[in-house]
Amino acid sequence: MPLDILTIGEALVEIMRADINQPLDQPGPFVGPYPSGAPFIFAVQAARLGMESAAIGSVGVDAFGDCLLHQLAADGVVTDGIRRLPDQATGVAFVAYNRDGSRDFVFSLGAGGHIKSDMLKPAHFAGLRCFHIMGSALSMSEAVLTVCQEALALALEAGALISFDPNLRPELLPVEEARIVFAPFIDAADTFLPTQEELLLLTAAGSADEAIEDLLRARPDRKIVVTRGAAGCSVYTEDGRLDISGYDVDEIDPTGAGDCFDAGFISGILGGKSLRAAAQLANACGALAVSEKGPMAGAKSRAEVEHFIRTSIRSV
Ligand code: ATP
Ligand code: MG
Repeated sequence: MPLDILTIGEALVEIMRADINQPLDQPGPFVGPYPSGAPFIFAVQAARLGMESAAIGSVGVDAFGDCLLHQLAADGVVTDGIRRLPDQATGVAFVAYNRDGSRDFVFSLGAGGHIKSDMLKPAHFAGLRCFHIMGSALSMSEAVLTVCQEALALALEAGALISFDPNLRPELLPVEEARIVFAPFIDAADTFLPTQEELLLLTAAGSADEAIEDLLRARPDRKIVVTRGAAGCSVYTEDGRLDISGYDVDEIDPTGAGDCFDAGFISGILGGKSLRAAAQLANACGALAVSEKGPMAGAKSRAEVEHFIRTSIRSV
């Protein structure tokens, strides 16, 4: 069966501090491993919304690799794009959450950084509806960037929609380099999903409005979806701007909000929803994502997300 959504990037497990404000430079309790990695959170959320989804990446032949693969299998994510490497440990992120909402990381990409050209399978691209790529995948290494560029070319050749979330991580790739590396992916994107800050950092424009104007002038047929945290999002097309308010929830764990949001928006569009309805679905997925601890715990099924939309309070 052709895939609805394909993505690629860093496969990880996350191991987090049991409580907030516990620094990573001292002994203390951790919980985990939790299956993680932005592209994998995205693929799981898309699958839980009913999409046929796959992610390309690599893990070790170890218990953490099993942890991620078991979760993907349980959710029906297509896993034949995941390679197991006997000589590498699965990628791991140790995360501490601080009282002010910030996060500290100790991060080892391990097997997750070993994505090779021969992992791009023609069967993943034949009839593919949407290729979703994130800046974090483009920031891993020159070698992985080259594979991502090849994947983009294959997806374009296959006639897939392209969606791009910059997921800017300046600690992996300085902003000045990200601008250059991300540019062809922004150009190719039918759907571009930056935060307001990313929009300004990644374009030469002096203001967000100017950046949007430039992007729509270059490609009038595209959608730009600017996420605004708890406030929701704005969708810009050549027809104008739609502001869609977010949902009022208690933020427990911000990890995965953007990935679940992206999966919600793309699933909505592929499912034939209006822009407003797709953005509302996306906001609901993002809000649910932050409401639970664990990177994939807040990624809910279609029925749960729809119930949440029917019964929840929208913020301003
Ligand atoms: P990430 O850190 O996962 O990359 P991001 O910075 O890309 O996230 P945000 O704008 O923080 O993206 O969040 C994406 C979407 O998730 C928002 O547009 C919103 O719909 C939802 N969201 C995020 N935080 C909250 C919150 N505290 N309350 C409600 N909804 C939220
Ligand atoms: Mg993001």
